[in-house]
Amino acid sequence: MNKIVITPLGTISPYPKGNMNCPGFLVEYNGKRILLDCGNGITRLMNLPEDLKDLNIIVTHYHKDHIGDLGSLQYASYVYHNLGMLDKKINIYLPKNDFAHNREAILSNNESYANYHDITDSSSFAVDDLNVSFNDNKSHTVESYMVKLQSDDFKVIYTSDIGTTNMEELIRFCKNANIIICESSFIQKHNSNSKTHMTALDAGTLAREANANKLVLTHLWPEEDRSLYLEEAKRIFPNTEVAEEGKKLVLTKK
Ligand SMILES: [Zn+2]
Ligand SMILES: [Zn+2]
Repeated sequence: MNKIVITPLGTISPYPKGNMNCPGFLVEYNGKRILLDCGNGITRLMNLPEDLKDLNIIVTHYHKDHIGDLGSLQYASYVYHNLGMLDKKINIYLPKNDFAHNREAILSNNESYANYHDITDSSSFAVDDLNVSFNDNKSHTVESYMVKLQSDDFKVIYTSDIGTTNMEELIRFCKNANIIICESSFIQKHNSNSKTHMTALDAGTLAREANANKLVLTHLWPEEDRSLYLEEAKRIFPNTEVAEEGKKLVLTKK
C-alpha cells in the first residue's frame, strides 16, 4: 500500500507557546522525509538522529518563524555525523533570493553536514516517485513558495505564508489536491486588512475553488480559540480540520 504520513510539528506564529511550535510539517514517504519549514520549537517533536536520515528540509521563505530551528538541525547533522551516526548529508532547499541576510547566515554555517539547493519557480526534486515542486505565491510580504508534493496517487499542497492577491494562480496550483495545508493567520473578527495573510474564510474559499478533498488550517495565533478558525472555514468548506502538533494526517492508496 502506498502511503504518505504528515505530522504537524508546529502550527502557530509568531512565537512558540506551551506544546505548540512555529510552522513545520514532517512528511514521511517510503521511509524518507520532507520537512516543510523549520519553525521555532519543532525539533522538540522530532526523533533525532533517526529523522536526519534521508531528510529534505524546505525553507519556504526567510521569515524567522519559519527558520527558527534550522540552526539546531544543521548543528545536529554535524554532531551526529561526527559521532558516526549519520553517513549521508541532509538536504536543505532555500529560496534563491536572500532576505535580511538569512540565506547568507544559513549557508555560512560550517558546522553542518548538509547539501544546499536553490528554490525557484522552475526547480523541483523527487523522493522516489513523489515529485516536489514550488511556486512563488506572490502574495506574502516576501518571496514565499508554495510546495506541491505529487505522484500518480497523491497531491499535497503546503501554501506557506500566503495572501489573497493572487487567487487565480493559487487555485490553479492547488487544483484537485487531496490535502491543502493552508496558512490562516486570521479570522474575520480580527478585522485584518492584511492582503499578505489569509483568514480561515479565505482558506476555505481556496479549498472550495480548487476542488480539494481536505483543508488543514495552520499558522494560527497562539492566543486565539482554535474552534473559531474551524467554524469559519467550515462555513465555506466542510471537510476542514485544524492542524495540531503530533496529530498525524495519513493518506493511503491501495
Ligand atoms: Zn511569513
Ligand atoms: Zn509565518
